[in-house]
Amino acid sequence: MVSQRVTEIFDKIREAVEQYSGVMDIENKIPDKLLEVLRENKIHALTLSENYGGLNLGIQETIIFLRLIGSISPALGLSLMVHYQVCEILKKKELEEFLSVVSSRNSFEGLGITELSGGSDISKIETIAKVSDDSIIINGQKSFVTNALYADFFAILARVGAKELGLIIVEKKDGVEVGPTLKLIGMRGSGISRVIFRDAEVPKKNLIATGKEALKLTFHALNFGRIATGAISIGVADRLLSEMMKWINVRELFGKKLSDNEYVQQRIADITARAEAAWLATIKAAEKMDAGEDARFLASISKLEASKVAMDTAVYAMQLLASHAYIQGSIIEKFYRDVKALEIMEGANEVQRMLIFRELMRRFKYGEGMVTL
Ligand SMILES: Cc1cc2nc3c(=O)[nH]c(=O)nc-3n(C[C@H](O)[C@H](O)[C@H](O)COP(=O)(O)OP(=O)(O)OC[C@H]3O[C@@H](n4cnc5c(N)ncnc54)[C@H](O)[C@@H]3O)c2cc1C
Repeated sequence: MVSQRVTEIFDKIREAVEQYSGVMDIENKIPDKLLEVLRENKIHALTLSENYGGLNLGIQETIIFLRLIGSISPALGLSLMVHYQVCEILKKKELEEFLSVVSSRNSFEGLGITELSGGSDISKIETIAKVSDDSIIINGQKSFVTNALYADFFAILARVGAKELGLIIVEKKDGVEVGPTLKLIGMRGSGISRVIFRDAEVPKKNLIATGKEALKLTFHALNFGRIATGAISIGVADRLLSEMMKWINVRELFGKKLSDNEYVQQRIADITARAEAAWLATIKAAEKMDAGEDARFLASISKLEASKVAMDTAVYAMQLLASHAYIQGSIIEKFYRDVKALEIMEGANEVQRMLIFRELMRRFKYGEGMVTL
C-alpha cells in the first residue's frame, strides 16, 4: 500500500517533530537536534532516487507524508515542501551536480519567485540576469524566500531579456545576501527572508531554462507546491478535528456533553465533509502528476479548498475550545497563526479561483465537461 511505506518513514521522525515543533515556533529556527533526526532518516532526499541516496518517493507518497507532517508542524511542512519543489526542478532537468549537493549536504533549498513588486503576477519580476558568454550577473531581490536561512542554493526566476524570464540556480556565495529571518506571525522556523543579489556571478550553465521552458518548470514546481499546500492544510484540519473531538467528548455544558449538541455536530460534520472532499482532490491531483498528466486544475482546487477548510477549522476550533485555546502555547493557538499562510502562499486563493475559472472557460469553449472525470 502507498501509505504504509510513508507511515513507516514518518514514524521514525514523528517523536522528534512532536518534541521540537514548539521550540521551532519559539526560536523561529529548526532546532539542530531535529535537523539531525531528519538527516539520519534521509528526509532531505525523500523524493530523490536511490542513486542520490534518496528514498524515491513519488508525488502521492510525498503528499501523504506532508499531510502527516502538517498535522504536527505546518512550518516544517512548508520547509520540506519548498525543498521538494526545488528537487522537482532538479530532477526534471537531471541536474546531477545540484542533486548531489542535496544528497550530500542535507540542506533545505529555496525557491525565489516573489518580489516586492507583487508576488501574484510574475510579469512584474524585476530581478535582472545579464547573460554573457560564460557567466551570468544577477541583480535584484526576492522578498519572501522559505528556507533562505538553511539553503545552499536557490532556484530563482529572473529577467533574462526584455520580456523573457529565465530559471537560474544561484548558490549562496559572494553577491548573495540573506536578510535577517522574518518574524512572521506563524510558520515560524521555516527560515523565511529576503534574498538580495548584488552583482552575483554564476556560471552560464546555471541558467537551466529560459522562456516557455522556464515557465513550464516553474509551473511544475508550483503545481506540486499547490498540492503540497493542500496536503499540509488537510494535516492541519486533521489535527484540529481530533483536538475538537477530544474536547466535545469531555466538556459538559447545560447538562449535556458538547458532543450531544446538534449545532456542534453539524459544524464538525461539515468541516469533516469538506476536508475529505479537498483531500480527494489533492490525492487525485497527485495521482495525475505521478502519471505525467496535466494536474493544474485539480492542483488549484486542492490548494483553494484545503486551505479554506483548514482556516475555517482553526477559527471554529478556537471558538469551541474557547478560553482554553486562546492561550499562547496551546496547539490551537499555534495552528491558528500558521494556517493563514496556507491561503496566501503558492498563489493566493484569489489567483487559484482565477486559474480555475480560466480552465472552465476553456472547457466551455471546447464543449468539454465542467467537472474532471
Ligand atoms: C509563509 C509564506 C511562505 C512563502 N514562501 C515563498 C517562497 O519560498 N518563495 C516565493 O517566491 N514566495 C514565497 N511566498 C510568497 C507568496 O508566494 C506570495 O505572498 C503570494 O504569491 C502573494 O504575493 P504577494 O504577497 O506579493 O501579494 P500580492 O500579489 O500583492 O496580492 C495581494 C492580494 O491581492 C489579491 N489578489 C491578487 N491577485 C488577484 C486576482 N487575480 N483577483 C482577485 N484578487 C487578487 C489577493 O487577495 C492577494 O492576497 C511565501 C508566502 C508566505 C506567506
